[in-house]
Amino acid sequence: DPRIRDIMSRIRVVPDFPKPGIMFQDITTVLLDPKAFKDAINLFVERYKGRNISVVAGIEARGFIFGPPIALAIGAKFVPLRKPGKLPGEVISEDYELEYGKDCLQMHVGAVESKERALVVDDLIATGGTLCAAMNLLERAGAEVVECACLIELPDLKGRERLKGKPLYVLLEAH
Ligand code: 5GP
Repeated sequence: DPRIRDIMSRIRVVPDFPKPGIMFQDITTVLLDPKAFKDAINLFVERYKGRNISVVAGIEARGFIFGPPIALAIGAKFVPLRKPGKLPGEVISEDYELEYGKDCLQMHVGAVESKERALVVDDLIATGGTLCAAMNLLERAGAEVVECACLIELPDLKGRERLKGKPLYVLLEAH
C-alpha cells in the first residue's frame, strides 16, 4: 500500500532519546502532514469497521492521538488507559515491568462491560509489556480483546510473543 510508505517517510528517528543508545521513533512528524495522519487512521478504520468492535482502548499518551478518531469512525466508544493517579473515578490497575523499574496502567471501573469486543491502540510496540498490561485490564473487566493495533513494531524486541496469542496489527516495522 503506497500510503504506508508515505507514513513511514514521515516518521522521524531521533538517536539517543530519551537516553543514549535508544533510536526513538517520533510519530509527531506524521501528525504534521494531514494526509499521512488521515491515511494512518483510514488504514485502521478499513481493517476494523464492520467487525462489531464496541470499545477502542487507547494507551496514554500517544494512543490518545490515534484511538479516538478510529473509535468515532467505527462507531465504538473510546476508553483511556492512563498512568497512575490521573483517572478521577474508581480504577483497576495493572503493574508491568519496564527495562528499568516498573510502570502501571489504570482503567475506570464501569467503562467497559463484560462481553464487549475491544481493540487496543498505541503508537508503538517495543517489548510488549504495555500492550500486555492493557489487555489484562480489559480482560479483567470481562471484555474480549479482538486485536492490538500500533503504527510501528520493533520486531527485534519480540514484543509480539508477550501478547498471549492475541493478534497484533501494525502498519510498519522499524529496526
Ligand atoms: P513496550 O511496553 O512495548 O516495551 O513499550 C511501548 C510503549 O513505549 C508505548 O506506549 C510507546 O508509546 C512507548 N515507546 C517505546 N519506545 C518508543 C519509541 O521509539 N517511539 C515512540 N513513539 N514510543 C515509544
